[in-house]
Amino acid sequence: MLKKYGLLSIIGIIFLIALIFLTSSPLSFAVPNIEEAPSIPATTEPLEKGPQPDVYYFTEVNDVIPTNDKPEYDIFTVQERKERQLATELTSIEPYYGKKTIYLTFDDGPDPENTPLILAILQENNIKATFFVVGTEVSKHPELVKQIYAAGHAIGNHTYNHIYRELYQSPATYIEQLQHNDELIKNILNVRPRISRAPGGTIGHFTTEYWKRLKTEGYIEVGWNISSGDASNAKADALLQNIISQTNKNTFLWSHAILLMHDGRGHSETVKALPSIIKFYKEQGFEFRVINKATPPAW
Ligand SMILES: [Zn+2]
Repeated sequence: MLKKYGLLSIIGIIFLIALIFLTSSPLSFAVPNIEEAPSIPATTEPLEKGPQPDVYYFTEVNDVIPTNDKPEYDIFTVQERKERQLATELTSIEPYYGKKTIYLTFDDGPDPENTPLILAILQENNIKATFFVVGTEVSKHPELVKQIYAAGHAIGNHTYNHIYRELYQSPATYIEQLQHNDELIKNILNVRPRISRAPGGTIGHFTTEYWKRLKTEGYIEVGWNISSGDASNAKADALLQNIISQTNKNTFLWSHAILLMHDGRGHSETVKALPSIIKFYKEQGFEFRVINKATPPAW
């Protein structure tokens, strides 16, 4: 009798183990895939239904992203990486030098007038660009941040408030502003950028200590080598001429032409000029790419 019950319970246990094994999701055994959407819980409304952007994500495995032409985002903030004892610093990879490559970049947005118009022009032309967004504008226009992201453009960090005298007090105040903006972006998208651009550029603002801090925190600082000149009151025609003359003068930069423009408030001339700027680069046979880890330094 006892023997019989013993046998039955052994069979029962084996059955139970088999059941647990069979019902576990195969995902729990899978190696994390870097192209999978982040599975962290949403802190605000998730993106609208529809196609998810074609982007790469930095996850626990920080450095597996190969040289590619997609936007790259991190599912963790710097603070979260530190708490989880994950790497913050990025290892270098082979930079991408094309024959003719243009990176269109737009700073100081998102802006409710200019950004949607720029997004529409980019879509019409079937090309991707990079938007360096300011935290104060991000918190005012989260739906535009979602639109940029969902369309598969790259988003970069252009600090929280763009106020030079506050930003450039010290490396610590600068990093604080980047991280503040990271958190705002992550609250909207569940991910944050790894690329950043210093307002007004790094020259005259950064000491070696700034560069060191950016490197250890894992930010990729992005400059430019062509300026549209749209920070002035120049008209659309003048912007196009600025760009054409700098492009033709600096042919050694054609492998990685990084063009500075603005989609912030008051830059409607940039919007007007954009279709002819795109036309110019298309006619010259340039490839349009977004800024990511593989983008070479501007100079
Ligand atoms: Zn700026």
